[in-house]
Amino acid sequence: MGGIYDFDLHEGRFARRRESRTREFRTLSTPREIQAAHASLPRPGSPSFLAGRSDEATMRHVVDDIVPGLSGQGLSSRYYGFVTGGVLPLAEWADNVVSGLDQNVQVHLPEQSAATAVEDAALRMLVALLRLGDDDAWTGRTFTTGATGSNVLGLACGREAVLGTKLGDGDSVGELGLLGACAKAGVTQLQVLTSAAHSSLSKAASVVGFGRSAVKELRLSDEEPWRLDLAALETELQVPGTASVIALSAGEVNTGRFALSGVDEMRKVRELADKYGAWIHVDGAFGIFVRALEDKDEYKLLHKRVEGIELADSITVDGHKLLNVPYDCGMFLTRSHLTLQSVFTNPNAAYLASGSQDPIPSPLNIGLENSRRFRALPAYVVLLSEGRSGMAALIANMVALSRQVAAFLRDSEHYELLPDESADLDEVFMIVLFRAKDAALNEVLVEKINETRHMYVSGTRWKGQKAVRMAVSTWRVDVARDYEVVTSILTHVAEGKQFDIKSCPLKRSELSSQDPPKMFEQVL
Ligand SMILES: *Cc1c(COP(=O)(O)O)cnc(C)c1O
Repeated sequence: MGGIYDFDLHEGRFARRRESRTREFRTLSTPREIQAAHASLPRPGSPSFLAGRSDEATMRHVVDDIVPGLSGQGLSSRYYGFVTGGVLPLAEWADNVVSGLDQNVQVHLPEQSAATAVEDAALRMLVALLRLGDDDAWTGRTFTTGATGSNVLGLACGREAVLGTKLGDGDSVGELGLLGACAKAGVTQLQVLTSAAHSSLSKAASVVGFGRSAVKELRLSDEEPWRLDLAALETELQVPGTASVIALSAGEVNTGRFALSGVDEMRKVRELADKYGAWIHVDGAFGIFVRALEDKDEYKLLHKRVEGIELADSITVDGHKLLNVPYDCGMFLTRSHLTLQSVFTNPNAAYLASGSQDPIPSPLNIGLENSRRFRALPAYVVLLSEGRSGMAALIANMVALSRQVAAFLRDSEHYELLPDESADLDEVFMIVLFRAKDAALNEVLVEKINETRHMYVSGTRWKGQKAVRMAVSTWRVDVARDYEVVTSILTHVAEGKQFDIKSCPLKRSELSSQDPPKMFEQVL
């Protein structure tokens, strides 16, 4: 822990980290390095297996063998796979404090630890950053392991609330179980009504007992599959014997588009939910951060798309994506802490009682885990240090690069911007979807781009054909430089030419060593 609280020491490290943003780190190691990492792992049956090693030899193994076989997602500004985010220097420092102090944030013990109060303060700042209205209205709020965890909480709360209303008499799924509750309430079908939801919603549906097949896609059209068909929604809500959760994608993963066009549709969904006794869950893992953008003309359309989200019953937010904190951080918000507690109460354990009348509940009664990491601290320091303007600038940077690349693709002879080339570029948030016009190139486009190792993208399918998605989600974005490199790579790939980072007009000093352990050393 030596020096972990030494500001002068860390100031230097933070400065190096921020400065490293101007340097080039490759997005992936070479296949040889990755194979070598695999080959270095302990083998059962070998004489050294579990024989123990000195700390130094163990560290050396990690630095020399494992680190070279890891991806550059934390260091490169152009790791655009999935939606991964990055780690702000201060968040990394806070994460080390968390590990060093190893707080078990499960019981609210205000006289013994401030950890639960810090969690609560972070969640209140988040509610304000995302302009979700009065933070006291989101009485059920907690940190989760990520958006999948939050989606599990969302569906679990939906199940509890919707069936609870049908049961009456204070009966609950938490007490009766799903089978008993459905039988008693006369419910024969549970359904999750959605459009182009993230795959984790199906996983959550399986975990909470709806079943994956309960997830019903109500897409408005093939042209705009992310949009929810409100007429179909009403039809499904009316089916006798059903209990429904409406799950809105606020940020579809292929396109970054939104399930609803704006607040009028959101009001309509709220009205339908109230009329038919359904729960509204918004999966805003990354898309809800639109609400952290400034009130400017260029974001007007995006703001419109997420207007009214505060009318939902529960919301998923991801921390380890756009908030740029290390992995193991998501948030869950609901207006109904009683519902959350009804599901997650950890009963009859006197030794875990907080014995406090404090309004902050014990995390173990409002989430999946009992013992749990102090995962709020990195989010707390990011929200505190960046503030509203810092977060707005961070996200704006991602939007700027995404829109510039989208414009390049739209105007390119080689590429087609998806989902709709004629759409307003103001619809672009931080995901860009595209494909090559040449069918043969399109088949291998992801591999060709990733082979350059200076830009990493994920493949997907769009309307039955392969497509490429580029998700810009790290604080390391440097709009001018990254635009230069990305468009150079895309042009080289389209023209069948070998890409060489040295051919980009970057300052030579920006090219760092290609040796991954050294990459880390330079930065850490
Ligand atoms: C990433 C993502 C998830 C899953 O989140 P994890 O943090 O990976 O568990 C769920 N929904 C959306 C919209 C996402 O982008």
